[in-house]
Amino acid sequence: MLISMSKMLKVAKKGHFAVGAFNVSSSMLMRAVIEEAEATQTPAIIAIHPDELQFITNEFIAYVLEKIHRSPIPFVLHLDHGGSLADVERAVHAGFNSVMIDGSKLPYEKNIALVKQVVDLMHPIGVAVEGELGTIGDTGNSIEGGATKVIYTNPEQAVNFIEKTGADSLAVAIGTAHGIYPKGFKPELQMNILRDIVERTDSPLVLHGGSANPDNEIAQAVTIGIQKINISSDIKHAFYVKCREVLKNQELREPNQIYPECIEATKHVVRQKMQLFNSIGKSSNYFAE
Ligand SMILES: [Zn+2]
Repeated sequence: MLISMSKMLKVAKKGHFAVGAFNVSSSMLMRAVIEEAEATQTPAIIAIHPDELQFITNEFIAYVLEKIHRSPIPFVLHLDHGGSLADVERAVHAGFNSVMIDGSKLPYEKNIALVKQVVDLMHPIGVAVEGELGTIGDTGNSIEGGATKVIYTNPEQAVNFIEKTGADSLAVAIGTAHGIYPKGFKPELQMNILRDIVERTDSPLVLHGGSANPDNEIAQAVTIGIQKINISSDIKHAFYVKCREVLKNQELREPNQIYPECIEATKHVVRQKMQLFNSIGKSSNYFAE
């Protein structure tokens, strides 16, 4: 079933867990996320980036929504890193019920103005909006990109940003990077910044670039107060590592012989993340109130 992002994150906050937002840009990746969510009774967010939407086309979204509507598990269909009004409008026309508008590279006041403009357009039609403050690092190998240097979210500004924009959730920069880290690079999350933000606001908080961060840091961030965590590179990595392995057999050419193992490998990582976020089996929390 399709539920609102507000409901998704409100229940997560109350239950002290985070919902995984998995970037899917093929029917195989989508099946891995939806089927694993169903197998474990776990709520999940289907995230699609504008570049991914360009590739899979709007018609694919009808298929995603059909899967969601037929499922007993709560899902949200979310645009990841909308970069412009045009990105957001395209997503809404295709059927998304939640969007991110990323003005994090803009000066502070311009970021506020952009997010507020999107909120004013989206709220009357029941679409939730995620903003971002501070910038998420870029490891140079992800579709989401990012800044080359992490600028941490200023907790005081975070409160002001939420009040002025009316955004439903905020992506905070506490030391994550998009993509998979190069060998030898040790990312570290700034828990003190997160604690400071959590103490100042009731707004749901989002962690981007959660791929390849140490598990104990992610679990700690969930305990402190993160309600949505984006996962993209990790599931794609698992899928294609298995594809390459399967395709060593030069004789194979049927999708139904090649992909099932790759989907299984992806599901394995999806489940690991859900466990880490403490969201496994939490579907029932959405029907309790
Ligand atoms: Zn991101």
